[in-house]
Amino acid sequence: MVLKRCEVCINDEGTARIEEVNGRFLCSECIKQLPHLPDPEKVRKELDEFMRGVDRAVLAFSGGKDSIVALHLARKRYNADIIAVMVDHGLMSEKAIENAKAIAEMYKVPLEIMRADFTDIFRDAIRRCESPCSRCSDRTMSLLRQYAREHGFRYIITGHELPFGSSAVRRMRGGIYQIRLLAMMPEQERMEILKRIGVELPELPGYTTNCLVIGVAGKLFCRKYGFSPEHRRLAALVRLGLMDRKRAEEMAKCPEPTKEQWNKVLNKLGIRESEIECLKTGQREFVSHESRGTQNTGGGSGVAKN
Ligand SMILES: [Zn+2]
Repeated sequence: MVLKRCEVCINDEGTARIEEVNGRFLCSECIKQLPHLPDPEKVRKELDEFMRGVDRAVLAFSGGKDSIVALHLARKRYNADIIAVMVDHGLMSEKAIENAKAIAEMYKVPLEIMRADFTDIFRDAIRRCESPCSRCSDRTMSLLRQYAREHGFRYIITGHELPFGSSAVRRMRGGIYQIRLLAMMPEQERMEILKRIGVELPELPGYTTNCLVIGVAGKLFCRKYGFSPEHRRLAALVRLGLMDRKRAEEMAKCPEPTKEQWNKVLNKLGIRESEIECLKTGQREFVSHESRGTQNTGGGSGVAKN
């Protein structure tokens, strides 16, 4: 049986409900969001305008591709006086930390590395086969906000995209603003900037260029649900016309960490495989992303149906 696919984004019956609307097959998310999509030009114009008033800012720096592009833009396009602050959660790729140092030096931007313990978040996510990303990102932002407040900054620039929502600027507690500098920037443009900078990024499984946990947690999430934790975000980027469908499908494949990465993450977090819920016996067999299209992964739950 072939799964019905959304004609706009990368969702199919394995990840969303598909309906026929005026002769087109669309997923429930496209049906809901297509009439209200923000205008990318408008969002970027507002961002440009806002950035004109930003003299100094904290730049949330992970050493990954998006924050490198954000740093580049903050310096070269907006000429902002920035300090790069990296929150090292303990399971960053070494290459990403090296990259962060090299890029900061290249752009003559001061770099501060804050070490923090995210073990509780990662341990909990991996045991339950869930993604740690949103809790990790919340804690990171909260540490950065604290840093900004203590050092008299009003703005935090991040390399976030804007797959959902329509404003690149968000007011946080304490009167500090988060500026999502990559909002509505097409993937292609980002890749071109990186190419010009000439930075070599680590090859990591999952949609990341800096975090070792994502590949492991993503593999487990895929096992539990049958699709990648990045799937919704990637589908949204395609819907907005910011990412090529083929590339998104490639990025949405279930991550396959090396044995070395798997062991490193589990050892560091002190987790035995027997504690991981979706690896316990009695779980339905996981249907890999590659084999989808011929098999039914069954609704949003990802549990295989026969
Ligand atoms: Zn869709």
